[in-house]
Amino acid sequence: MSLIEITDRVHAAEARCGRPEGSVALVAVSKKQPDTRVEAVLEQGHRVFGENRVQEAAGKWPAFRERFGDVSLHLIGPLQTNKARQAVELFDVIEVLDRPKLATALARLAQERGESPELFVQVNTGEEPQKAGIPPQETGAFVKHCRGLDLPVKGLMCIPPAEEEPALHFALLAKLARENGLDHLSMGMSADFETAIAQGATHIRVGSAIFGERVAG
Ligand SMILES: *Cc1c(COP(=O)(O)O)cnc(C)c1O
Repeated sequence: MSLIEITDRVHAAEARCGRPEGSVALVAVSKKQPDTRVEAVLEQGHRVFGENRVQEAAGKWPAFRERFGDVSLHLIGPLQTNKARQAVELFDVIEVLDRPKLATALARLAQERGESPELFVQVNTGEEPQKAGIPPQETGAFVKHCRGLDLPVKGLMCIPPAEEEPALHFALLAKLARENGLDHLSMGMSADFETAIAQGATHIRVGSAIFGERVAG
C-alpha cells in the first residue's frame, strides 16, 4: 500500500456515502516507522500525522517540522499526567482525553498558556478493562465536566475490541457524539477505515497500510 492508494480508497469511501471529497482527515500513524518512510510521505505533501508516545514524537517531529513546515500532529496513545506539559507543547490535537485527572492537568496548562490543543474524548466502547477510555454510559457527564473546565472538546475517539465487529462500535461512538453535540469522530484504522467512514468518521488513523509493517521495539 501507499499514501496514494489509501487516499484513493478514502475518496471512494467518501463518495459512496455522499460525503464531499476531503471531508475525512487522514491521520498517518507514524509510530515505530523508520524516518525514511515518514520522510517519503512528507515529501508527497502529507501533513497530518499521529504518534502514540510523547517521547518518541519528541525525538523526531521537531526536526521534521523544521524541514517540512506546518504539520498537524495528533497524540493517539495514552497520556500520563506528568507528560501533559510536553504533550501540549508538541501536539496540535490530543485524542486521548480519558479521565478527570488529565482534564484538570490540561485545563491548568490551557489557562497558563492561553491556548490548548484540540481534544477528543476517548471512549472505551467495548468496556475492556485493559483499555483506556471513558465508559459509554459516562461519556455525557465527562464531556460536560470538560466543557465546564473550558476545554476545547471537538469530538470522540475509540479503538474497538480486536475480535469484535467494528461497525457496532463506530455506530455507538457516532450516537454518543450526536447526543453530546460533538461533530468530530476519530475512528477506523488500516483494517477498517472504510467501515468507519460509512459510519461517519471525520478522522481515520491509518498506519501500516500507508507505511508498511512497523519496526519492532
Ligand atoms: C497504531 C495505531 C493506529 C494505526 O494502526 P494501523 O493498524 O497500523 O493502521 C491507529 N490508532 C491507534 C490508537 C494506534 O495506536
